[in-house]
Amino acid sequence: METLRCDVLVVGAGPAGSCAAREAAKAGAEVLLVERRRQVGLPVQCAEYIPAPLVGEAGVGRGYVVQEVAGMRTWLQGGLIQELPAPGLMINRDRFDQALAEAASQAGARLLLGTAATALSGQRLTATDADGRQLAITARVVVGADGPHSRVGRAIGSVNRHCLPAVQFRVRLAKPLTHTEVFFDDRLHGGYAWLFPKGEQANLGLGMLRPGPGLPGIVAVLRALFAELRAKGRIAGEPLGSRAGWIPAEAPRRVVAGGVLLAGDAAGHTHPITGAGIFQAVMGGKLAGRWAARAALAGDTGLLGGYQEEWDDFYGETLARAHARRQLLESSPGRLDAVIRRCWVGFREYYAEA
Ligand SMILES: Cc1cc2nc3c(=O)[nH]c(=O)nc-3n(C[C@H](O)[C@H](O)[C@H](O)COP(=O)(O)OP(=O)(O)OC[C@H]3O[C@@H](n4cnc5c(N)ncnc54)[C@H](O)[C@@H]3O)c2cc1C
Repeated sequence: METLRCDVLVVGAGPAGSCAAREAAKAGAEVLLVERRRQVGLPVQCAEYIPAPLVGEAGVGRGYVVQEVAGMRTWLQGGLIQELPAPGLMINRDRFDQALAEAASQAGARLLLGTAATALSGQRLTATDADGRQLAITARVVVGADGPHSRVGRAIGSVNRHCLPAVQFRVRLAKPLTHTEVFFDDRLHGGYAWLFPKGEQANLGLGMLRPGPGLPGIVAVLRALFAELRAKGRIAGEPLGSRAGWIPAEAPRRVVAGGVLLAGDAAGHTHPITGAGIFQAVMGGKLAGRWAARAALAGDTGLLGGYQEEWDDFYGETLARAHARRQLLESSPGRLDAVIRRCWVGFREYYAEA
């Protein structure tokens, strides 16, 4: 079995992993970034919306931007209840992820594509490479950025316990849209649907509690929504493609153990109400990479506690509030009209004390 060594090993080349690898390499660490996909960013499992300030934080230009959106419209039980200014961007998520991975490589990280982590013991990872060969990698620090069902997280006993399924169609818009739109109704228990514009097309999707085993239940809800929007003349034709994925909806938790730390979806940093996680993946990834390099180069994994503290200061309160609102949303089936203002980020009541 081939054996590799490095200062910082990053598992997963999504936004969290690539940002971690770039920062750690910039800080002078020898970095390996392993990604099980053969091509970064594909297939896309995302509605592809980012808040405008993320462009500067990501630091890889704007080549992935498709269109700007002026704000967000909220629909409840079929009626428009709010329109908010919220400048954001619709992106080609594959190009975004690829630009971040390229930036990590340019900073000096070595990217191993088609390489799937299979087990982690301490800071020793075993993986299978693109040709099916076994690989062992020993690192001073390991960053788990391997998504909602993280193997690295499992190895340190810090796992996502509540992931919501999400399904999405690519659709054709009947006319261009300047806003993102979100839909709440009693069918969408514990979640919501979205219509996010990308030029002449849009991502129409939803994430919610499963009405039964498997995905067919939520695909049926998406099909019904598609038919309704088409009947209203908002979208046209048939779905152009479909995707599914998982969205962690977690309370804040400890994501550092020994020489291992987690970032992005692996750490459960996705917003439990909106399901958005790209911003947190970039910000958390950057922090994780800096602390990983610091600890690796000092030979002191005790320093990694600084990552947990800095992240909790930055995002802990937001995550805790969103998690509490999710509990309220999930415990109020059929009472959406009563709880929506406390459970959706667009309303002032969401930010009030419990
Ligand atoms: C349908 C859907 C729509 C969404 N829409 C939005 C949106 O519009 N805006 C937003 O902000 N967020 C959105 N999200 C959430 C967002 O996609 C995630 O929060 C974000 O991708 C987290 O980035 P990450 O780097 O932590 O994880 P990921 O992007 O999941 O990256 C993890 C990487 O790890 C790799 N990997 C996994 N296991 C292994 C292994 N064993 N070995 C090696 N590599 C491995 C994966 O292949 C992947 O490349 C959406 C999610 C879903 C499911």
